Order: sequence, then C-alpha cells, then structure tokens
Amino acid sequence: MLAFAREEKLRILVLGGGSNIVFTKNFDGLVLMLDFRGVQVDGQKVTVGAGENWHWLVRHTLQRGLFGLENLSLIPGLAGAAPIQNIGAYGQELDQVFVELEATDLSTGEEINFTSSDCCFGYRHSIFKDELKDRMAITHITLRLCSDFTPILNYQDVVNELESLGEGIPTATDISDAVIAVRKRKLPNPDKQGNVGSFFKNPEMQSQKLEKFKQRWPDVPSRQLQSGVHKIPAAWLIEKAGMKGMSIGDAAVSTLHALVIVNRGNASSGDVLGLGARVEKQVLAEFGIRLEIEPVFY
Ligand SMILES: Cc1cc2nc3c(=O)[nH]c(=O)nc-3n(C[C@H](O)[C@H](O)[C@H](O)COP(=O)(O)OP(=O)(O)OC[C@H]3O[C@@H](n4cnc5c(N)ncnc54)[C@H](O)[C@@H]3O)c2cc1C
Repeated sequence: MLAFAREEKLRILVLGGGSNIVFTKNFDGLVLMLDFRGVQVDGQKVTVGAGENWHWLVRHTLQRGLFGLENLSLIPGLAGAAPIQNIGAYGQELDQVFVELEATDLSTGEEINFTSSDCCFGYRHSIFKDELKDRMAITHITLRLCSDFTPILNYQDVVNELESLGEGIPTATDISDAVIAVRKRKLPNPDKQGNVGSFFKNPEMQSQKLEKFKQRWPDVPSRQLQSGVHKIPAAWLIEKAGMKGMSIGDAAVSTLHALVIVNRGNASSGDVLGLGARVEKQVLAEFGIRLEIEPVFY
C-alpha cells in the first residue's frame, strides 16, 4: 500500500476517529485507517494498538487495577492519535504516563520507535503536529500506569461532581465517572452536533504578563503549570469578547462551551474557518492575545 502511494506520488492521511480534523475540501490522496488492536500488559506497562478506542482503553485499564488515565476519560478518538497532540484534560496529560510508541515511516516503510523525548511533547503538541506531520503512522503506544492510585483533583468541577456523588475518598473509577459526568454536561456531544472539541488552545502567560493583564481584567481565571507559566481559559476570553453563540452560516460558537465551534446542520468548512477567524480577530482586538487553533485542517 505504501509502495503504491509512493509510486503514484499520493499524499497519505492517517485517519483515527476523525474527532480532531476539519476537512476544508475533499482529500486528494490515500486515507489510511489503522486496525492495530489489542492490549498487552506487562506489570504496569501497557502497550495498545493504535486502532483501539481511547475511552475504552481508559476504562479497561481501570478494570485491571492500573491507574493514571482516569482524568482523560471520554476524550473521543483512537489510542494511536493520543500522542499527536499529547491529549490532556482535567490536570493530566498523556506525556505523564507515556513511555514510547512504534510508528511506520510513510515514505520508507521503516519501523521506528519514539521515546517521550523524541516526541517533543508540549501543551497539545508533539513532533507529529510539527516537523513529522503526516510522515508517520503510529501503530502502537506504550504507557506506564500505576497500581497505586494517586488522585489528581486540580479541577473544581470534578471535585464538585465527586462531592455530589457521595462521601468518602474517591476511587480512580469515581474520578473517571465524575469526569464523564462533567464532560457530558459541559461539552456538546459530537454525535449529536458536529464539533472537534476545543477549537483554540488556552493561551499561556508568564507571571509578569498575567499580573499586568489582571490590572485590566481582575476576574480572569488562571492556572499555574508546573513550568511556572499560567494558562488562561480561551473560553473566558471568547465569552468576554461577546462571541458566545455567534454564528456564520450553520457554524456557531457553542452556547454550552465557548471554546467549541459546532455545526448546527449544514456548516461549510468556509463557515467554520470564517467563524474561527472572526473569534481570533475579536479576541486579539479586545485583549491583545492571539489565539492558536488546536485541531488539524486538511
Ligand atoms: C467533543 C470533543 C472533546 C474533546 N476533548 C478533548 C480533550 O479534553 N483533550 C484533548 O486533548 N483533546 C480533545 N479532543 C480532541 C480529540 O479527541 C483528540 O485530539 C483525539 O486524540 C483525536 O483522536 P482521533 O482518533 O479522532 O484522531 P483524528 O481526528 O482522526 O486525527 C487527528 C490527527 O492525528 C493524526 N493521526 C490520527 N491517528 C494517527 C496515527 N495512528 N498515526 C499517525 N497520525 C495519526 C491524523 O492524521 C490527524 O492529523 C476532543 C474532541 C471532541 C470532538
């Protein structure tokens, strides 16, 4: 298949669940869907085929008494795509448990292993969104989970949800259940209303810049990362800029969560891109902050 694509000089797109892709036109090339399946557990090390559903993997590892993925519950898509943007949610990111991945070089067919440092992980970022974009097919990923459970409870929404579920020290499954409940309440369901999740990344600011920003916008929420930089919610900026519910054609800034652009029916890619550009422009004009787009476009 790869040799055929090479001979025909076809572009190749490795498609996972399609939950983080916006197609702007028909893709002129070869679309590959990888069907590598199965989970191998070696102590606390878990190797999973790229074609397994991510959320299924989270629940499966919990059932096997392996912890570390619970805050990443219900993120749509397949396991093979998880390293592409170093998926993260509710205080946890893939790179915290990532060991290595196996990939096939699409231009040579060579099999290559990438360690965590090879992947150059960052916030919603890896080398596969950058210099190796569309050059590797990830076939397996290996994670190191933990048989001792340490809860990550950095997010008030999750804490509140746990409190409403009952008393006592939460188990990892309780946290997964709480994350699922919060996500179902806060995010539009892509099965019912097309969307790719967060349309923009949350901007990061150094302490000094944040202090200055707070003089003008004292109520801006922020969260300090281990690196010392602060993340501020793009949803807050978009909402403050008056863009929540704003639409172009059938593309609209979700009224449920301002970080999500939804397709109300027949939105064209032009509607989605146009709306994204309008939001970007408005936030830049209002706050002097340039938002960065999170999903991939083809
Ligand atoms: C409602 C909703 C909520 C979301 N919430 C979150 C969230 O909380 N946190 C978060 O980080 N993301 C979130 N996302 C984004 C999305 O779920 C993730 O980016 C997910 O990892 C994409 O998986 P996928 O299989 O659908 O990948 P796709 O959308 O199919 O592909 C995304 C990119 O990865 C590449 N790719 C996919 N699989 C492979 C592979 N095996 N080898 C090489 N390249 C590959 C594709 O070519 C493409 O460039 C959300 C999306 C939605 C719709």
